[in-house]
Amino acid sequence: MTPTWPDRLFIDNEWCAPASGKWMPVVDPASEEEIGRVPRADADDVDRAARSAARAFEDGWGRTAPEDRGALLNRIADLIDARKDEIALAETRDMGKPLRESYGNVARSSRTFRFYAGAVDKLAGEAPPVGPDGFNFTLHEPLGVTAHITPWNYPFANACRSVPPALAAGCTAVVKPASHTSVTTLMLGEICREAGLPAGVVNVVTGSGGETGAALARHPLVRGIAFTGSIDTGRRIMGYAAEGIRPVVLELGGKNPQIVFADCDTEKAIAQTMRGAFTNAGQVCTSVSRVLVERSLHDAYVEALAEKTAALTVAPGLDNPDLGPLVSASHLEQTAGFVGAGEREGARLLTGGRRPEGLDRGYFIRPALFDRVDPASTLAREEIFGPVLAVIPFDTEAEAVAIANGLEFGLTSGVFTRDIDRAMRVARDLKAGMVWVNEWFQSPVQVPHGGVKMSGIGREQGMIALANYTQVKDIAIRIGA
Ligand code: NAP
Repeated sequence: MTPTWPDRLFIDNEWCAPASGKWMPVVDPASEEEIGRVPRADADDVDRAARSAARAFEDGWGRTAPEDRGALLNRIADLIDARKDEIALAETRDMGKPLRESYGNVARSSRTFRFYAGAVDKLAGEAPPVGPDGFNFTLHEPLGVTAHITPWNYPFANACRSVPPALAAGCTAVVKPASHTSVTTLMLGEICREAGLPAGVVNVVTGSGGETGAALARHPLVRGIAFTGSIDTGRRIMGYAAEGIRPVVLELGGKNPQIVFADCDTEKAIAQTMRGAFTNAGQVCTSVSRVLVERSLHDAYVEALAEKTAALTVAPGLDNPDLGPLVSASHLEQTAGFVGAGEREGARLLTGGRRPEGLDRGYFIRPALFDRVDPASTLAREEIFGPVLAVIPFDTEAEAVAIANGLEFGLTSGVFTRDIDRAMRVARDLKAGMVWVNEWFQSPVQVPHGGVKMSGIGREQGMIALANYTQVKDIAIRIGA
């Protein structure tokens, strides 16, 4: 079951070979086998893509009637749904995640296109009162060409998170997926053409971050950048954006705390810890990576977590296990390095953290659970982005909030309690872009998604994301006597 995709760049509604004549291997993380190749675009390819996007914008994409633009976005959603088997299979082979998760990501992607299809005709401006002698009114105009640079953990869904609001706003797009996982983004290009998008409205350039990504983020025709990825790269992207005074949306990393009070519904809290920590093998920006448990509940909670973690299945994504492999050899090595650091720093490894028995090939690691993690240690402070969960006991609400807020990350966070006042107090005091009360991963497309502090700038999803791709023009009219 090897998926097929064109091993070409998608520029101006055409498949084209990279100017460099170079390709990158596509490696199946479950078998370490090379299952294909994708092009390595250089600055010339990026320039062609940006010019094509600029032409499409000037040719009037931003001025299409809202109902026509909305119909095209709905058509893309229909085609995504029609090709869901193919996309989900490719995502699992390319990235490693369990097939049912890939299906979930594909369904979410078509839903996002539909949401923004409905938003196209709701970008209304304002008419602030300016006195009897005139009128002012504002227009939300599209930025123009936008760059979309995405990470490897949700390749299709991340491209389908920022591209739909950009198109809805009237922008055109050049997308650069992560080099480990480029396949399904190329499929998106093909779907956009099939849906009837004019040439140049969506282009896909694959290649390395340092070459292709940097050339895109620095391209003078790019008027806005949507970036999802690590803090280090986000910082670079801001630098590139500064060169051309371009707005950026940065969706960056997290080290998300789940605070569990003894009065919570324990069974539900445990279920959410497990789901929050180990979905997509922990390779989620909004994963639970620190679970802070009130001391009187701590022992029972950890015992249940250890039993459930040890029972999780790890296998190739096509077999639909609880966890698939990690995305790459280097990420496996890095994650194993964090397990080693935890052991060296004196945290108690209760289960996991080693290669599963019987899986000699593939980037597999058993989910790891560490208890009594020192809030000052590496395990408690650094984003691991893998299946490694740190338990930290606490005594008071104030202490829990201080530990939760004690890092430079601020993506998401959660509080589990039956006490509504406490839930509201903690939600108010947590410094994060998202706070989940008695649940985890509650971030549907209509809800803003993003972080504070080093976790990012701006929000994707929801109506608010349309502002990422528009600028406001004020028109003032003087009334003659
Ligand atoms: P990354 O290394 O920062 O890469 C992200 C993207 O940037 C990739 O396409 C990468 O290309 C590209 N890139 C790298 N260097 C670049 C440069 N100098 N100029 C332009 N582009 C460049 O992040 P990752 O390892 O793929 O993803 C994991 C990170 O993403 C984690 O920190 C995670 O928390 C974060 N994330 C955040 C969210 C959110 O919504 N907040 C969602 C998902 C993931 P290459 O692949 O070729 O290096």
